[in-house]
Amino acid sequence: MPRIAGAGGRLKDIPVVGHKRVLLASPRGYCAGVDRAVVAVEKALERYGAPVYVRKQIVHNKHVVATLEQQGAIFVDEVDQVPQGAHVVFSAHGVAPSVVQAASDRGLRAIDATCPLVTKVHREAVRFARDDFEILLIGHTGHEEVEGTAGEAPDNVTIVNSPEEADSVVVRDPEKVVWLSQTTLSVDETMETVRRLRARFPALQDPPSDDICYATQNRQVAIKKVAQEADVVIVVGSANSSNSVRLVEVALEHGAKAAYRVDYASEVQQDWLADAETVGVTSGASVPEVLVQELLDDLAQAGYGDVHTVQTAEEDLMFSLPRELRTDTSGNRDARALGGRSR
Ligand code: SF4
Repeated sequence: MPRIAGAGGRLKDIPVVGHKRVLLASPRGYCAGVDRAVVAVEKALERYGAPVYVRKQIVHNKHVVATLEQQGAIFVDEVDQVPQGAHVVFSAHGVAPSVVQAASDRGLRAIDATCPLVTKVHREAVRFARDDFEILLIGHTGHEEVEGTAGEAPDNVTIVNSPEEADSVVVRDPEKVVWLSQTTLSVDETMETVRRLRARFPALQDPPSDDICYATQNRQVAIKKVAQEADVVIVVGSANSSNSVRLVEVALEHGAKAAYRVDYASEVQQDWLADAETVGVTSGASVPEVLVQELLDDLAQAGYGDVHTVQTAEEDLMFSLPRELRTDTSGNRDARALGGRSR
């Protein structure tokens, strides 16, 4: 199979003291929400033909976006860039109600690929706002998911970006506050933010269930275990992928001597491997497995052919496709309607 990026074999086999090996984190890579969103765009292209418009990157991965562009998807920032009457897919990160309304006003045919676990947080925001709670939304200002969730209750939401911001955030009524969060944060850092918030607002309510999703949590648990034994950790994922960037941070906090993020194996620098006996490898929730395999191939050429999987959880969650795509044009249920696919 041709390589996706770079010629491969750039890494040299430099001798190190000890046995060279790779610890491969599992779970890693595609989550159920990303798989569903990518399949939604592919199926929309099959069904309606190119172009299909997608508001924002369908998932935060350079390779996935480039591949879908080659198939006929056009990524736009806002719905007013989509021709009237065209199909538009909303990304896995979700959209504010104002975006849904703008698409409807424009006569667009919308397909909502918002991850159901993001939708769950939207519903929580709506419910707590209806009960007149002030919502402290732990997350990163400007991230599409945070914009979408905040947009459900703009008058009730205050974004808390970090533990430090928890020390200074101002609320109207300390007796009526709840925290919610972005789905792709560091679990440990979020709990530290909550601890600081609760120290200031003892009546702070918790979300009804975890907002940080299963995939984010599982990938962090796996890389923590890998990092304890790794000289260097390489995370495959894009710079705008929150959960991928968190994996680098978590690896460093849990024992990796160094950790780097790359979109493609061809970005790995030879000097990252200097003196490294054990290389940890993982990938973010929006990363196709083929990119990890290319990294493993390159590492094997550099003498790291001994690969051990470090498995900390099994994942089998699948989501239904967006409603608009669950049946074929004859009304039959589509074979992929229950999500999931081989990678
Ligand atoms: S990372 Fe979590 S919230 Fe985001 S798409 Fe995947 S499962 Fe859904």
